[in-house]
Amino acid sequence: MLMRDPVNGEPVDPEKTEFKTEIRGKEYFFCSQDCMNHFLEAPKIAYFSMEVGIRNDIPTYSGGLGVLAGDTIRSSADLRLPMVAVTLVSRKGYLKQKISENGEQIDLPDEWKPEELLELMPQMVKVKIGKRDVRIRSWLYDYKSQTGGVVPLLFLDTDIEENHPEDQAITDHLYGGDERYRFKQEIVLGIGGTRILDALNFSIRKYHMNEGHSSLLTLELLRKNGLDAETVNRHCIFTTHTPIEAAFDKFSYDMVNEFLGQEFPIEELKKYGGKDKLNMTLLALNLSRYENGVTKAHMEHSKKLFPGHHIHAVTNGVHSYTWTCQYFKELFDRYIPGWANEPELLVRVDEVPDEEIWRGHLKAKKILMDFINEQTTVQMDISALTLGFARRATGYKRTTLIFSDLERLKDLAKKRPLQLVFAGKAHPRDITGKQVIKQIYKYREQLKDQIKIVYLENYDMDLAAKLISGVDVWLNTPLPPLEASGTSGMKAAHNGVINFSILDGWWLEGCIEGTTGWAIGPSPKESIQEAERRKLELEDLYNKTKYIIIPKFYRERDEWIKMMKNSIGKIAYYFNTERMMRRYITEAYLT
Ligand SMILES: *Cc1c(COP(=O)(O)O)cnc(C)c1O
Repeated sequence: MLMRDPVNGEPVDPEKTEFKTEIRGKEYFFCSQDCMNHFLEAPKIAYFSMEVGIRNDIPTYSGGLGVLAGDTIRSSADLRLPMVAVTLVSRKGYLKQKISENGEQIDLPDEWKPEELLELMPQMVKVKIGKRDVRIRSWLYDYKSQTGGVVPLLFLDTDIEENHPEDQAITDHLYGGDERYRFKQEIVLGIGGTRILDALNFSIRKYHMNEGHSSLLTLELLRKNGLDAETVNRHCIFTTHTPIEAAFDKFSYDMVNEFLGQEFPIEELKKYGGKDKLNMTLLALNLSRYENGVTKAHMEHSKKLFPGHHIHAVTNGVHSYTWTCQYFKELFDRYIPGWANEPELLVRVDEVPDEEIWRGHLKAKKILMDFINEQTTVQMDISALTLGFARRATGYKRTTLIFSDLERLKDLAKKRPLQLVFAGKAHPRDITGKQVIKQIYKYREQLKDQIKIVYLENYDMDLAAKLISGVDVWLNTPLPPLEASGTSGMKAAHNGVINFSILDGWWLEGCIEGTTGWAIGPSPKESIQEAERRKLELEDLYNKTKYIIIPKFYRERDEWIKMMKNSIGKIAYYFNTERMMRRYITEAYLT
């Protein structure tokens, strides 16, 4: 079987090539000595993320941040970037969501067995947390791209017999437990992760912190470099994902001292992490040479929160090949060959005939409709206009906004059918988020004679793939400016699903009114009272659905398909992680 050289992507015959090597028990084949040397010696980018969504059966992610980390790894492998990624093993996952008949979310653990999918690395490191030594080991998953590129992903694990039972549990629950538990996880991720990379002999050129959870890695780098902040700075890159002060991870120095006092001088830490409390975002900002927000608007907000910091913008993307449904993949392969590794080629989507776009969409829609009709008691209709809304169930996402005026909502479905599909997990302690689900169950009951509504259980990457390709319109109604980026609308666009969203996060850069989709409410640039803004949002939500979206969907199919194509040719071609990673490479990794 022909394989690909992980360095330059050339085909190699494992039987014939003399350039092969075995690392961590796996064989790698190369076309030349140069490539092999490069693979063995090239210093890597170390990408740290508390959550990573790399496969649906590895449930170590909770939402957009983790899926973005997964897409980052997928695109880095496509581009054959020398990268190694580090995360926690989260043996009990985030949560498996069941919903009772009256809309009550039931939180179940989402246990998985790393030993079934990953390879245990023999090296072990120690970190002193409080008075105890905590041993940390790692499990390896090699993510392989079809281009031959490989990105090793290490899952850190403290479930080791010699550890105190309490410490064994540190890497159990993603975002579980109290503040003390969270801080210990962040010690394991940042300090433990850096030590594991050293123990595995990785040579690292840059450390990229995906959100502040891993910023304690800077302390390990300070320690290794005689507390020289300049050296640490040169090696660190930080991407913030948080739009408001209240959402930053902060820890009291009493606790920090209790757990970390043995590992690092706390007075030194205060220089970078804030005077009164340890602010993980500030720590990362103060010790990184390159800092960025995840959209242009988010960069502007971050600059206001941290005056004096030069914060760049690298707008997020999604991994095109992962988030394009099978039918559109086939179309793109036929009409736009090469699109998967060069998604900018999607600008040529007009090569695909309109009928084929529509046929492809109906196939994807049928898969979703069949799934819904099997899973629920609602029978959905493939010819009916279907709006989708799926994301973490939490207050600022305003999942119930469309139910603000039930009479106007009912009016929308008077002449032609309208169907609504929802999904999303609430964090186990997010009371508001859980209420949101209950409310939708209530509306579903109230409106059952007028509008078909479903709330699908256990939103994960597999369900996301069905939803973002199988509905007609993708709805997003966050409370600005709380959506730093958002990425599910980018996934929808790859499948010709049209976005209808509040102008916040990425949609400020993606929306061309009436061309790529529609905006809900005024631009944030317009100075309008908040109460007035809320009113205008509702006006747009109902009026645009009634007077633009419904007529276009049912009566102007050609125009509709044109907008589907614009979603692909004017959104997907840009909002992807191949473009995003090329930006990180030229602006952050190579400087
Ligand atoms: C893409 C994705 C998200 C992020 O969606 P947003 O709309 O950006 O919040 C969250 N969860 C899953 C499972 C996803 O696939």
